[in-house]
This record gives sequence, structure tokens and C-alpha cells, in this order.
Amino acid sequence: MRRYFEFRTVSCLLAAGAIAGVALGLAGQSACAAEPSLESFIPGSHVADVYGSKRDGKRDHTGVDVAAPQGTPIAAPADATVVEVSDLFHGEPRYGKAVVLKLDDGTLLWVTHLDGYSVRAGDRLSAGDVFATVGMTQFMKVPHVHIEAYRETGVDRRVDPAAVWPFLARG
Ligand SMILES: [Zn+2]
Repeated sequence: MRRYFEFRTVSCLLAAGAIAGVALGLAGQSACAAEPSLESFIPGSHVADVYGSKRDGKRDHTGVDVAAPQGTPIAAPADATVVEVSDLFHGEPRYGKAVVLKLDDGTLLWVTHLDGYSVRAGDRLSAGDVFATVGMTQFMKVPHVHIEAYRETGVDRRVDPAAVWPFLARG
């Protein structure tokens, strides 16, 4: 699997080499200096809609929408186990294909509206592992993934995905 974190680590190692006097172009150093961002996990993407936004005549938005070109790879935000994959999540065409990740703190992350996925239930992912691609359904105006987050326990289990994955905060 392609891993963005490994790419970043290599860049930083190269930058460290530069400090030690090894010849190096500026590209490696700038890649190292950059903080991880949404771009690190879903290249070329942006947050298109936040959790809880008001929608005319309908319930508030239950997740975060991340828009990116169809087929853009999606990397795991943290170490996680795949608990479910589905071609018709919850039998709902509006969700389409989905992968549910269980992060190591027990949080469940639904990643829906996928074009495809490359994992099976039970697979283990490290942060940065690519597991799926951004999709487009007949219900959508632009390709995006819709991400929901659930704590395993508690009365109000659904939470703002940006509280779990800070890069999902619109910034
Ligand atoms: Zn959405």
C-alpha cells in the first residue's frame, strides 16, 4: 500500500542529511518542514461542508464532506482496523460504497461515497495507508467523501469528525 507518511519520513531524513552536509535540493527540506495536513491524507482535497451545518428542511449535516477529484486516494488518519466494507452502506444509495475504520482509541470512522476500496474487514492499517478512493454518486453535485465519527460508548455517540481528525476542521 502507498503510504504518505513514509514519503514524508523519507523527505525529513533527506533534510536531516542536508544538515549533516549531504547535498540536497530544497524540495526535501520544504516537504519536511510542512506540517501534516488534510493534503497529506487526501491530496488535492478541501473541506466542502462541516459537521452540523444547517440544511434546508432536512436534519443537520451528520458528517464532514471532503471534496476531491474522483479516484483521489484516501489514507488512514491513524492506526486502525477495518471493521466493515460495503458496496451499499446501510442499504442506502446516498451512502454508496463505504469503509468503517475503528481507530485504536475505539472511535469508529465511517468513510462513505467511495469510488472504491482496497481493504477487507479485519485488515490492519497504519496511519498513512491508502485504503480507498473518492467517489461520486448520482445524488452528488461534486465528488466528495462524507465522513462520520462515532465514539464506542456514551449517550451521544456521534461526534464531529474534526474532533477525531483535526485536519477536517475547515481552515
Ligand atoms: Zn455529507
